[in-house]
Amino acid sequence: CGIVAYIGNKQAYPIILKGLKRLEYRGYDSAGVALLNSGLNVYKKKGKVADLEETLVGKDLHANIGIGHTRWATHGEPCDRNAHPHVSENGKLAMIHNGIIENYNQLKGELQKKGYTFTSDTDTEVLLKFIEDIQQNNNCSLEEAVRIALKRVVGAYVIILIDQDNPDTLIAARKGSPLVIGIGKNRDEHFLASDASPIIEYTKTVVYVNDYELAIIKPDELILKNLGNEKITPFVQQLDLEL
Ligand code: GLU
Repeated sequence: CGIVAYIGNKQAYPIILKGLKRLEYRGYDSAGVALLNSGLNVYKKKGKVADLEETLVGKDLHANIGIGHTRWATHGEPCDRNAHPHVSENGKLAMIHNGIIENYNQLKGELQKKGYTFTSDTDTEVLLKFIEDIQQNNNCSLEEAVRIALKRVVGAYVIILIDQDNPDTLIAARKGSPLVIGIGKNRDEHFLASDASPIIEYTKTVVYVNDYELAIIKPDELILKNLGNEKITPFVQQLDLEL
């Protein structure tokens, strides 16, 4: 029920972990992170953020880009397998999602006919593999595939994807679930979260993403587009919140 992501030149993992703890008040049953360094590493666990943290002691968690999630199960019981992030069939994409994909069953059937397999019971894994399938069939960018997929999706969501083949870019989108993007003080990093609480200790300059908007985020660049692929000027606000 919470998301946090980071891209920049700081260590992503401590920022994500602290952010997930700040979002704990929203309630959740599992937690997970995906970190991109020389490869894509996904760690997820039923239980508290502290339980996840414990299992990661001693692991190499160095990465400048990552996504983190706390799950409030809607499709599939709370367990390690159903926790986010989920990984694409080719192992290159990882995605986190808050919300519900209502037509996931139909999409799942279509994907199964094409040979896709599912390791979880979630609607999220269906959306991710739907995006992957579109990208492969159209031989297009991930951004384009997300846009096409979201036009067919019924439901509410905030999603964030990382792509092993594009390690300097995060792709995010929302409809009905909140997403805030913090712009780093030196404009060379971005912080994403469900609300501003994980962000304000780093920056007070934020953009609230609106429904049906897609964000393409690099360390030093934030592009917002609508689902028609038109650029939108981000409405940049200064928060006067204190921690
Ligand atoms: N529907 C997704 C699931 O059950 C996401 C739940 C959430 O918002 O945390 O895994």
